[in-house]
Amino acid sequence: QLLSGDNVDAAEASLEKSLRPQTLAQYIGQTRVKHELGVYIEAARKREESLDHVLLYGPPGLGKTTLAMVIANEMHVQIRTTSGPAIEKPGDLVALLNELEPGDILFIDEIHRLPKIVEEMLYSAMEDFYVDIVVGQGPTAHPVHFPLPPFTLIGATTRAGMLSAPLRDRFGIVEHMAYYEVADLEDIVERTADIFQTSIKPSGAHEIARRSRGTPRIANRLFKRIRDFAEVAEQAAIDEPIVDRSLTYLRVDNDGLDETDNKLLRTMLDFYDGGPVGLSTLAANIGEETDTIAEMVEPYLLQIGYLKRTQRGRVVTAKGYQHLGLPYPPQN
Ligand code: ADP
Repeated sequence: QLLSGDNVDAAEASLEKSLRPQTLAQYIGQTRVKHELGVYIEAARKREESLDHVLLYGPPGLGKTTLAMVIANEMHVQIRTTSGPAIEKPGDLVALLNELEPGDILFIDEIHRLPKIVEEMLYSAMEDFYVDIVVGQGPTAHPVHFPLPPFTLIGATTRAGMLSAPLRDRFGIVEHMAYYEVADLEDIVERTADIFQTSIKPSGAHEIARRSRGTPRIANRLFKRIRDFAEVAEQAAIDEPIVDRSLTYLRVDNDGLDETDNKLLRTMLDFYDGGPVGLSTLAANIGEETDTIAEMVEPYLLQIGYLKRTQRGRVVTAKGYQHLGLPYPPQN
């Protein structure tokens, strides 16, 4: 053994890091978002101003964090990253803001989960670059006006609808991240294979791309597992048959749906005649958090038209029935 386990992990971690594209040009897909951001970045740089605040919203794993880092790189500024739940009190936010240099970026992931009191403090920080804080306690407590350097807030959220209007309105740039096209995911898989120095056939890249739920993070994750299977099978290049065998083993079906997706559809049919059924009822039935269903499971099923949303809850569509091999309309 030349490498201890720890070294292997460190090597993997640095590979993981190298998977993140550094520039807009390296960032695959999301053409419209990239084009718009490219214009705003160039304009801000020409005026030597900080970039307007940016809100990125869309399902997890679509590259929001990666894009925030790309923006920082393109703007030649530092980025500090944190997340909504990590900023528990106003003091935590002040500490973060205090470390920013002019033009720097503060990235807040899951910004919809900021405590209300912190969120309110962000309003003046974003709009006029100051915060008012209360120093001391009891009778000695007094407000202090704390000026900030101009900075850019980049917020990411999987739930744009859960953002309060005053916060949403303070973002000058709002970008929706859509699920990736198969062709873009093929490029991402081929780039990943290249970084991992693994050879892959176009048919293999296509099959991974097709079964990745439109999501780069899933494509990369599946790629890594399949690479293990290929290595153990002593197969020189990843091709379609090894992808198919590995994914079957990993219980990723022909449409790229995983066990949770299928369990959700199945439960809706078996217990609710295909719906309508509410999200929290469903979550309880399949033993998942409501948030997980709302953020990670349901959006893709809606996107591919297996589920639809009605006023009374979620309903399985004809396509959803077909996926499970059942006749539609349901026979009673
Ligand atoms: P999010 O913040 O939306 O949850 P991330 O930015 O963490 O997603 O991206 C997840 C993974 O997918 C990262 O490892 C990143 O390298 C990869 N990735 C995301 N978008 C792209 C892209 N456009 N091109 C190449 N790789 C990408």
